[in-house]
Amino acid sequence: MRDDLQLEFAALCRENGWKCTSQRLAVYGFLRGNLTHPDVDGVWEAVRSELPTITRESVYRILNEFSEKGVIRRLDQIENARYDSRTDAHGHFICGKCGHISDFNWPEGVVLPPEMRQAKIAQMELRLVGVCEKCAAAPPVVPKGQN
Ligand SMILES: [Zn+2]
Ligand SMILES: [Zn+2]
Repeated sequence: MRDDLQLEFAALCRENGWKCTSQRLAVYGFLRGNLTHPDVDGVWEAVRSELPTITRESVYRILNEFSEKGVIRRLDQIENARYDSRTDAHGHFICGKCGHISDFNWPEGVVLPPEMRQAKIAQMELRLVGVCEKCAAAPPVVPKGQN
């Protein structure tokens, strides 16, 4: 498993002209196959256990490098940008209460409206925003001093 990661990472660096640094490797290793859509702090926290000296700025720079080359996807227009290891077309459900983001597969048979048929689509995302099942099931919080 570890060997696969090293090989994959070396190929990725070669392709993009990056140096194979331990910092890039740590970020890549953490995000590969990770479906939790972490923000920069989440990634930083995780890679620091492996590389205690890595700075938040380095993590941020590496994440943006990866997103620019399509290695990961950056989700914007959320409170904090989140980073996604899945770069294929898929949808997101975002809970406005707890911030949890879950993936769902693109519904089959999505057809573009005729006026968009000539457009060059670089990225497709369907985003649903609401309240997740967990939050919807939680009892409402009674504000203090109102009982
Ligand atoms: Zn929620
Ligand atoms: Zn996703």
